Amino acid sequence: MPRSGQDYLESLRDGRAVWLDGELVKDVTEHPAFRNTARSVAALYDMACEPGRRDILTVRAEGADRSVLRAYHVPRTAAELVERRKAFKTWSEASFGFLGRSPDYMAAGTAGFVSAPDIFAGEGFDGRDNLAALYRRASEGSLYQAFTITNPQIDRTRAASEQEEDDLYVRVVKERDDGIVVRGAKMIGTGAVFGDEVVVGTIEPLPRQDVEYALTFSVPLDSPGLKFISRTSYEAHARSVFDNPLSSRFDENDALLVCDDVFVPWERVLTYRDVDTTFRMWWFTPAYNNFVHQAATRFWTKLEFLTGLAILLTRANNTYALPPVQMQLGRLMGWLNIAKSMVVAAETMYERVAGEGSAVHLNREIASAHRAMAGDLYPKVLAELKMLAGGGLIQLPASGHDLTHPELGPLVAKYVRSPGTPAEQRIKLLKLAWDALGSEFASRHEQYERFYHGAPHVYLPGILRDGDPDLLAAFTQSCLDGYRLEDLPGGGGTDALS
Ligand SMILES: Cc1cc2nc3c(=O)[nH]c(=O)nc-3n(C[C@H](O)[C@H](O)[C@H](O)COP(=O)(O)OP(=O)(O)OC[C@H]3O[C@@H](n4cnc5c(N)ncnc54)[C@H](O)[C@@H]3O)c2cc1C
Repeated sequence: MPRSGQDYLESLRDGRAVWLDGELVKDVTEHPAFRNTARSVAALYDMACEPGRRDILTVRAEGADRSVLRAYHVPRTAAELVERRKAFKTWSEASFGFLGRSPDYMAAGTAGFVSAPDIFAGEGFDGRDNLAALYRRASEGSLYQAFTITNPQIDRTRAASEQEEDDLYVRVVKERDDGIVVRGAKMIGTGAVFGDEVVVGTIEPLPRQDVEYALTFSVPLDSPGLKFISRTSYEAHARSVFDNPLSSRFDENDALLVCDDVFVPWERVLTYRDVDTTFRMWWFTPAYNNFVHQAATRFWTKLEFLTGLAILLTRANNTYALPPVQMQLGRLMGWLNIAKSMVVAAETMYERVAGEGSAVHLNREIASAHRAMAGDLYPKVLAELKMLAGGGLIQLPASGHDLTHPELGPLVAKYVRSPGTPAEQRIKLLKLAWDALGSEFASRHEQYERFYHGAPHVYLPGILRDGDPDLLAAFTQSCLDGYRLEDLPGGGGTDALS
């Protein structure tokens, strides 16, 4: 059985170096910037131990007499892909789609790595045994793995080795008999401060000259020299769960990872001084495709939540039955069903990794298309909801204390209400809506949905590359080939033009 939420929380008290507002955070499970979200993650682990949900969230490990989180399982049939999606759905519903990097995200990525382990047999370094050990350690321990595989935005026009200084991006600075020493930074460690280990690597192609930067490793959060510099905490600024129901509980955090001469034992290195393997491990295994399975399922859940929010808002405003509002709600419902059907279609049209008894993964073209769709769609969904909500989103008492105040409470109750929706209910709903649509937390989510899977200038041309442009061009050409100038009414040939 996976570890309990309590065991998970205890594992976070390991002396990890998390920095916030110039302060070294002693214990993320107690600090007001992190503690509620840590508990939300712990609740996911508890859910996996509950008799009613254990069968959805866990599965018997291959060749062993114990259960692991289903996200760690390598699916071998289409039915197993569906089972995995049910597990993703169950966890994503617990945060209404707002914990993007719950532990199942990287777990599925690691299952993707072990589905094609030979990719890790690089020219000068063979990472296959270390990968097998990582998979065993992570799946048996139900570990929460984070990852930082993007270089900081210092100068995007130059290669890593051409930046102003050598150690801006993570690189190897010393080789020892027992491992390597690394120095530099990576962005953005979502959920990293709540993790057990962090995978550090590079998902973008590296030029040959960047060989010192071409490495991947996985280290525990408390590794000496490893530092996480947190962004603003929305949880810390939340007044209460009533006032900020999402940001107070599901602020998954994003942090800059800094390796200040971190020692990495050889057994934790996955790729080393190898630009090809460092890149291929993400794209030539189903790792990234597995990320999409979790992310697309979570996105579908988030749209379910937001569509439900639109329905409740318009009912509270008594605009629900107006024909233009019904049109807007229909549009939201349509988008939600597009998100859902892309997951189901990608599972139905699954593909197989080459080899006997091999793993299956989502249809690649549909998985890629989801990235193009979701990043563009999410801002439109938010805009539609804001139009439906109107000024009520802003005309809200600062906190629930205004409602309970003996003098103010009756005034608020009188003026902040709508037919069938008394003040407390209306304020509660609109505060939830603001947290989802307009707060700093909401803006971060908009940026997340646009960028968590890379920048559009990288992934959109990738969709073209992975598709079959010649086939499409030939199809349209067949239309052009079906008629001729010679067939002009009244005679053909160039004579007809003179
Ligand atoms: C909320 C959030 C969470 C994230 N979590 C993680 C995480 O957990 N782990 C992780 O590794 N990464 C994470 N990321 C980082 C994510 O992977 C990167 O944001 C993404 O890869 C894009 O890189 P970038 O942000 O540096 O954008 P850039 O590559 O700098 O691009 C930004 C913009 O600059 C322009 N631009 C830059 N270069 C070019 C070019 N060559 N051609 C054309 N236009 C260009 C484009 O307009 C582009 O949209 C997260 C990002 C966000 C926003």
